[in-house]
Amino acid sequence: MKLIFATNNSHKADEIRSIIGRKIDILTLKDAGIDVNIPEPHDTLEANATEKSRAIYKLTGTNCFSEDTGLEVKALNSEPGVKSARYAGEERSFDKNIEKLLQKLKDKEDRSAQFRTVISLIIDDKEYLFEGKAAGRIIREKRGTGGFGYDPVFIPEGAVKTFAEMSLEEKNRYSHRRKAVEKLVAFLNNFKPNH
Ligand code: IMP
Repeated sequence: MKLIFATNNSHKADEIRSIIGRKIDILTLKDAGIDVNIPEPHDTLEANATEKSRAIYKLTGTNCFSEDTGLEVKALNSEPGVKSARYAGEERSFDKNIEKLLQKLKDKEDRSAQFRTVISLIIDDKEYLFEGKAAGRIIREKRGTGGFGYDPVFIPEGAVKTFAEMSLEEKNRYSHRRKAVEKLVAFLNNFKPNH
C-alpha cells in the first residue's frame, strides 16, 4: 500500500516510518515531488490536519494522511496547543518557542503538559481521524540535542530523560505520535480497498 504523508517535516517522517515499518510505503511531499506549504489556519488540531490531507488528496488523487501536533500545557490553559509551531512568531523557531514557554511558566508550580497528535487519513474518498497523547511535564532548562520542537524541555510520565535525550526508539515508547500512528496502522490492516 502506498500513502502520501502530507508533511515537509523530515523528523516526523522518520518517526512515522520507524513505527510503520516496510509494510506501507510512505512518501513525503518531497518524495512525491510536491512543493507546497499548506496553511494551518484553524483553531483545532483536527481541522488543520483535515485541511492538509484534503489539500493533498485534491492535488494528487492519491490516498494520504497528515498529522497536526500540539503541546498542551495545563497551567497555560492548554497553550500553545494548535499554535505550537508559531508560538513565538511566524519564523517557527524551536529555540524561541521554548524560550517563550519557559518564560510563561517561570512562576508556575504546575508543570504538567501533554503532547497531542491528530492524524487525518483520506482513503478511497473517505475521511478518518486518529488521536494519540503523551502526558508529562515541562522542565526548567533544556536538556538533550535529539528530536525537535519542544523535545528538550518535555519529560514523559514514567521517564527521567527528556524526549531530546532519548533515541528514536525510546521516544517512540512514550510518544503521542506513535500512539496515533498505531491506531492508523491497526485501521489500515483491516481496511479493504475499493480496487
Ligand atoms: P505541526 O504539527 O507541524 O504544526 O507541529 C507543531 C509544533 O509542535 C512543531 O513545530 C513543534 O514545535 C511541536 N511538536 C510537534 N511534534 C513534536 C514532538 O514530537 N516533540 C516536540 N515538539 C513537537
